[in-house]
Amino acid sequence: MTSWTDVLEKSTGPIRTCVGCRDKVDASTLLRVVAVAGVLTPDPRHRLPGRGAWLHSRVECLDLAGRRRAFGRALRLASVTPESSEVREFLARVHRKQVDPS
Ligand SMILES: [Zn+2]
Repeated sequence: MTSWTDVLEKSTGPIRTCVGCRDKVDASTLLRVVAVAGVLTPDPRHRLPGRGAWLHSRVECLDLAGRRRAFGRALRLASVTPESSEVREFLARVHRKQVDPS
């Protein structure tokens, strides 16, 4: 169990809350997700404008966030496309890379 003060003491970077599991962790360990024309889009380089939602690069957290409609809240959008296929594909690519570095 990690307390809020533990996170603050250990981390040097900004703290963000994963929209899936609600863990508060260093932003550098999370994937930034923005809505581009209403479509959830991964922003691994933190370059896209606008509000971002933060997510562990785990399908579990993506599913949790989708079930709880957390992206719409985090991004202050009345309606965000529930289809998060772009983010899902990004996570799949990331995990394939971790499994097979070639
Ligand atoms: Zn998470």
